[in-house]
Amino acid sequence: MAYQYADIIIDISHEKVDRPFQYRIPAQLAEEITAGTCVTVPFGKGNSLRTGYVVGMGNTAEYDPSRIKEIAGIAPGSMSVQSQLIRLAWWMRERYGATMNQTLKTVLPVKEKIKPREKKTLHCLLNQEELEAAILAAQKRHYKARVRLLEAFRDNLDIPMEFARRELDLTLAAIRPMEERGQLSVKVSREERGLNHAKLPRPAGQTVHLNEEQQAAVDRFCEDYETGKRETYLIHGVTGSGKTEVYMELMARVLRDGKQVILLIPEISLTYQTVMRFYRRFGDQIAILNSRLSAGERYDQWERAARGEVSVMIGPRSALFAPFSNLGLILIDEEHEGAYKSETMPRYHAREVAAERARLSGASLVLGSATPSLESYLRAQNGEYVLLPLHHRAVAGSILPKVQIADMRAEMQAGNKSVFSRSLDAMLTERLARGEQAMLFMNRRGYSNFVSCRSCGKAVTCPHCDVSLTLHGKNRLVCHYCGYTIPLMKQCPSCGSPYIAGFGAGTQKMEEFTKIRFPDARILRMDADTTAKKGGHEAILEAFANREADILIGTQMIVKGHDFPGVTLVGILAADLSLNTPDYRSAERTFQLLTQAAGRAGRAGKPGDVVIQTYRPEHYAVQAAAAQNYELFYSHEINYRRLLHYPPVCQMAAVYFACGDEAVLDECAEMAARRLRESAECIGPVPAPVYKVNDIYRKILYIKCEKCAILDQIRGQIETLAAADTKWQAVQIQYDIS
Ligand code: ADP
Ligand code: ZN
Ligand code: ZN
Repeated sequence: MAYQYADIIIDISHEKVDRPFQYRIPAQLAEEITAGTCVTVPFGKGNSLRTGYVVGMGNTAEYDPSRIKEIAGIAPGSMSVQSQLIRLAWWMRERYGATMNQTLKTVLPVKEKIKPREKKTLHCLLNQEELEAAILAAQKRHYKARVRLLEAFRDNLDIPMEFARRELDLTLAAIRPMEERGQLSVKVSREERGLNHAKLPRPAGQTVHLNEEQQAAVDRFCEDYETGKRETYLIHGVTGSGKTEVYMELMARVLRDGKQVILLIPEISLTYQTVMRFYRRFGDQIAILNSRLSAGERYDQWERAARGEVSVMIGPRSALFAPFSNLGLILIDEEHEGAYKSETMPRYHAREVAAERARLSGASLVLGSATPSLESYLRAQNGEYVLLPLHHRAVAGSILPKVQIADMRAEMQAGNKSVFSRSLDAMLTERLARGEQAMLFMNRRGYSNFVSCRSCGKAVTCPHCDVSLTLHGKNRLVCHYCGYTIPLMKQCPSCGSPYIAGFGAGTQKMEEFTKIRFPDARILRMDADTTAKKGGHEAILEAFANREADILIGTQMIVKGHDFPGVTLVGILAADLSLNTPDYRSAERTFQLLTQAAGRAGRAGKPGDVVIQTYRPEHYAVQAAAAQNYELFYSHEINYRRLLHYPPVCQMAAVYFACGDEAVLDECAEMAARRLRESAECIGPVPAPVYKVNDIYRKILYIKCEKCAILDQIRGQIETLAAADTKWQAVQIQYDIS
């Protein structure tokens, strides 16, 4: 249907995205005008012609129709990157049920005032001999950051302070003594922020010779690419199979044509090690986005991309909106990661938005993972994605670790009350004696508030939904999908044992146990507490990599982004804990975590061992992870999803209602459920996992549907309801789709 009116933003480079103005669409242009079209319009009192972008369309006049001006014409530049990003925002608005304002704010960065700033450069005062001597001396004292800086001086006598601090992770406290000793001087000049950027050590070019599987993946991509075919590829490669090397080859191919590349990496994996691999290969063509950057620094990275000073943007999901006008390739590493889903409006998934952006700009899309999401693997099975498998580890002699399962029920029966199974205990003792390193991984995901049995290991689940019940207060168990509620029982419903309780042991407890059991071992702990201070995460990983400790204990954050050649043993504690989260994805998440954790063992030629401690050794997620067999897991899991009708075999939308008045919330949520049930299968409304926040009550309504386009209909229906009754004014609504 052709629209009568368009909302137009006049100046997009303004400090905030401007408020749109409404214009009439002339009939002869109705066909051509869509979101993102660049148009000329009469503006202001003098009606001088200005260019603007269409950000919305509709048939309702916002004020007296006779006073609405008419679009003058279509301006050149409709294929500009702004147009593309606005079209992307328009698509996100429909897909995720957000407002155009919300999606525009997501895709277009807010401009910061540019302050002139001092630019500092670290200038090396040492000659070559002195430099090598200084490197040796710093290495002896384990001054890791200083070693990095001194090594960088080998290639470059001047290192920008910004680069030293951000990429080499140097603190002023480390730089000052070097200055005092006459090793370097700090030069100061004035610059406009953003005009200058870090000049980096020379790129080294290709450093490894790709193996057959890697080369086959690269060849397949290049064949398509060169014949103009733009596909989505799923690189399914076991941990350590050399996916990153493949990414770099594909990037190099696309960059050779003068096109640009976006690479998404979850923030937690964006470690110094990872970033340096890309710098070494591509030098200063790349820009990195991470949460350590200030708003101004982020904007600088954007400007550098827009000006064409960089051709690769690496970062977490927001890097997706880099203003590249000739985008050739989007890569998503660890595509299964939950961090790619936004938890605020618009609640988008980076994988889906990447696919749309790739489509709009004629780019290819490459997803990579050792444990692909069910969504992506199903598509690969259906032939929608091209599957590129890497079955073997890349480093010669490195093989996948030997995995064994320790049944903690049997341990208890045998009188072992320790947190360590007998086999893990024996292996730890042996590793410590041999001077090798071990990692103990605590699967704490969703640990807090479900209830399980210490005897049989079963969690208490909902009879209707096959998810764990959540403990509310001291003695009420609630299903978050259907609202089923029962009082907390005294005995296990499965085996009658009285040992039924909320699950507890955290990493700190674990550290205490380990210290008591192995008093001579040097132990490091990594969790939200110990990494809270800036750089804490890197510092702990680095200390462990330098073998300053024998055992590293931690949560999911220890499984990402680092290679530890000294680690020959990985212990996974409470492996089944994450099976109990009230979520249809809990088996998938568990399998991913276990596989990634197990993959940390034995990377550098030495064979590794993994012990998975669990109360549910028979569960297919545990079994498949122990066998390191993704296909085995997939075949079970996809059947489960088919059987219970969960994504990816259908779509599931969620509507979040929030209101300070509980009665109004109930009434409105029920009203919506009644209306939506007329056309779709609904579950709920049920209380949100955290029901009350700041005196606001929250409920969720789940809707299962065959097609994603339904979200727009859902929103339409709810808006119609809401418009008819003033009660709704107090209710906030958000939409989510998965
Ligand atoms: P992944 O991203 O799949 O975990 P990486 O790309 O990080 O794997 O590779 C794992 C290790 O193997 C790295 O140390 C990398 O340098 C090395 N590697 C990758 N490909 C090759 C190859 N073809 N030959 C030798 N070593 C390789
Ligand atoms: Zn029991
Ligand atoms: Zn239920």
